Amino acid sequence: MTPAGTIRDTDVLVVGGGPAGLATAIASRLEGLDALVVERRRPPIDKACGEGLMPDGLERLRRLGVELDPARQSPFRGIRYIDGDTVAEGRFPGVNGAGVRRLDLHRALAARAEEVGVDLRWGTRVEALTGTGVETDSGSLSARWIVGADGLRSRLRAWAGLDAPPARRQRFGVRRHFSVAPWSDCVEVYWADDCEAYVTPVAADEVGVAMLWSPPKGGKRNTVGRKAGFDQLMASFPRLAESLAGAPAASKDRGCGPLRQRVKGVTRGRLALVGDASGYVDAITGEGLSLAFHQAGALAEAMKAGDLRLYARAHRHIAAVPDAMTRLLLWIERRPALRRRVIRALAREPTVFSRLLAIHCRALPVRRLGIETAPRLLWRMVQP
Ligand SMILES: Cc1cc2nc3c(=O)[nH]c(=O)nc-3n(C[C@H](O)[C@H](O)[C@H](O)COP(=O)(O)OP(=O)(O)OC[C@H]3O[C@@H](n4cnc5c(N)ncnc54)[C@H](O)[C@@H]3O)c2cc1C
Repeated sequence: MTPAGTIRDTDVLVVGGGPAGLATAIASRLEGLDALVVERRRPPIDKACGEGLMPDGLERLRRLGVELDPARQSPFRGIRYIDGDTVAEGRFPGVNGAGVRRLDLHRALAARAEEVGVDLRWGTRVEALTGTGVETDSGSLSARWIVGADGLRSRLRAWAGLDAPPARRQRFGVRRHFSVAPWSDCVEVYWADDCEAYVTPVAADEVGVAMLWSPPKGGKRNTVGRKAGFDQLMASFPRLAESLAGAPAASKDRGCGPLRQRVKGVTRGRLALVGDASGYVDAITGEGLSLAFHQAGALAEAMKAGDLRLYARAHRHIAAVPDAMTRLLLWIERRPALRRRVIRALAREPTVFSRLLAIHCRALPVRRLGIETAPRLLWRMVQP
């Protein structure tokens, strides 16, 4: 703890100036707290991501006062699953999501952070936790609250003893952009065994393609992950390759993983974790950004109230349904025969798919799923 009477550099010291860190800093300022962000890179910051913002994530950004350039985003109305010849489509309930390049999202978040008076220290790396704050490569900083927003492989999480043992099965991601007009008003998900491709419209003349995959059974961890390049993975998706044929690449490939990160908790003393640093299941449901924005608001409120237990509780609540859905999808993804049946059932029951999406983006409570849904889907799954 900072000794009584000590002058601190700030109320809230955020380590990591990605979406979660910047959103937390902005939300803290809106709660009347001073906020300082330490980020090792310089803006705008890019990252491997599917770049689809769910409707509730967009709403959270609006509440923070973050304005996205309308010319540099592309609305989408739902999610389309494509598995061989089977196409299933669910629509959001009267609201859109938006595809936004990470660079554009980062520009917008950083501009808003600056506008509300966040102290932004770009190009500064945090090297250790101290009793009063953190040690950086350009000196020490002290604060009342320390926020670890330093991503999947959070060092703060490890230093605070909040790392849990790694998951056995690992998944990885890689993305590339293409200069081509989007052909769909949905985010498209192409399914193959051990790999999916996510196509997100991000501008009037650009789509992003993110691949998620797991090393084959018996393959060495990480080694296979690193070897599986974008073009190699694209071979699993001939239909998508045809849609992209001749479209020039508009970005360099960016990879990331392993995705699954387990945590023992999200707070310790005066430290709280937010975003990917606070635990991550998988990108299969494309909502990491939305989750981070929900968490950021809850964390700022808890810091304002002076009680991080409020955040720990809110974090559990925010993550409960998304985590359950992500685990369920991963379980299905590992069983190709079952996966094909589930997607076929969703194709035959588009209203059920849309209702699941509405729950996913928090427009409907889980209880509105209806008791008839599971038997209906099961019936569709066993039909020839
Ligand atoms: C392939 C893929 C597809 C995805 N698709 C989607 C999608 O479509 N929609 C969606 O909502 N989410 C998606 N996600 C998830 C989303 O990308 C993440 O949830 C999101 O980036 C989390 O933001 P963050 O701020 O927690 O972490 P990050 O974006 O990783 O930011 C962490 C920041 O901390 C900084 N940092 C780290 N260590 C230090 C240090 N020691 N000192 C200073 N700074 C440090 C890093 O430089 C970085 O800028 C996807 C993820 C992957 C991998």
